[in-house]
Amino acid sequence: MIVRKKTRQVKVGNVTIGGDAPVRIQSMTTSHTRDVDATVAQIEQLTEAGCELARVACPTEEDAKALGKIKARIRIPLIADIHFNAKFALIALDEGVDKIRLNPGNIGSRERTVQIVEKAKRLKVPIRIGVNGGSLEKELMEKYGPTPEALVASALGHIRILEELDFHDTIVSLKASDVPTMIRSYRLASEKFDYPLHLGVTEAGTLQRGSLYNAIGIGSLLNDGIGDTIRVSLTAESVEEIKVGKMILEALGLRKGVRVISCPSCGRAEVDVFKLAEEVENRAMKLKEPLTISVLGCVVNGPGEAHESDFGITGGKDKGMIYIDGKQHRVVDEAKLVDELFEEIKLRRPNAV
Ligand code: SF4
Repeated sequence: MIVRKKTRQVKVGNVTIGGDAPVRIQSMTTSHTRDVDATVAQIEQLTEAGCELARVACPTEEDAKALGKIKARIRIPLIADIHFNAKFALIALDEGVDKIRLNPGNIGSRERTVQIVEKAKRLKVPIRIGVNGGSLEKELMEKYGPTPEALVASALGHIRILEELDFHDTIVSLKASDVPTMIRSYRLASEKFDYPLHLGVTEAGTLQRGSLYNAIGIGSLLNDGIGDTIRVSLTAESVEEIKVGKMILEALGLRKGVRVISCPSCGRAEVDVFKLAEEVENRAMKLKEPLTISVLGCVVNGPGEAHESDFGITGGKDKGMIYIDGKQHRVVDEAKLVDELFEEIKLRRPNAV
């Protein structure tokens, strides 16, 4: 069992991060934030998929000024992503965002930094310090190169600025696109401070490669008990990030969800296992209760795996068997196997559908 490292708890809107709170899943929209309808639609889609916090970019004043309108129409906390611009950070706070992502050392004059931090403190809005391997301070790059030491030193510099202003509602990320660097950076950070950690592999790549890189990076740390919120970064639709994030948490037993166990198929299978499993996986994604469903090509391992599942299907010659709570239930034609399986789920777990 994973023993999670105890971190300070921070409240982002009505969602707690750190301490004994569950590891939270978040994502970022890809629409122009100023396009309120498109951004709200994306956040709604993310929420439906299980996203718990949504971050939006604020590269222009128009984007920052749209935040209040977006917030009024969504159900999860809204995070403004600010790079360098103090004015946009102040607007975002006025618009009522629940968290801002900015690096206090990169925001301009000391006066502006104090203004933002004081305002965030007054409004009880946490700040995420987001250190990124691709944009480290010049002096740190010269001193350490692109290493975990450089990332952690950068984070500590920003943390110090906040602590000097008596601000402690801080969350920290130390992202790198190189997975071993990312893992070592977070490990080192977790030895140095107890602010909650937002885990991510930056620029991880397209759906398949990115999912793997994220699973290895984020998964290794979570397995060590490190990490309080995760963002799976993918060059793909944002909803995919949520699906992968959920799977990482489920794989480690950190979250109960729908799990589809499927065999790799082999010469013994007399049904199209790939097609069956794909169809079951797609439909299972939409279920609202934790369930385990097994999809097995033949009777060799079928009954054994079905025994461990709430529902299962096993292939035979043009036919298949539906299992319920590990017991054989009924034989169905292959063409109807998935539909009939979900009929059984609907009948027995109406709240899941
Ligand atoms: S369950 Fe049957 S079809 Fe699937 S891999 Fe095992 S032996 Fe092959």
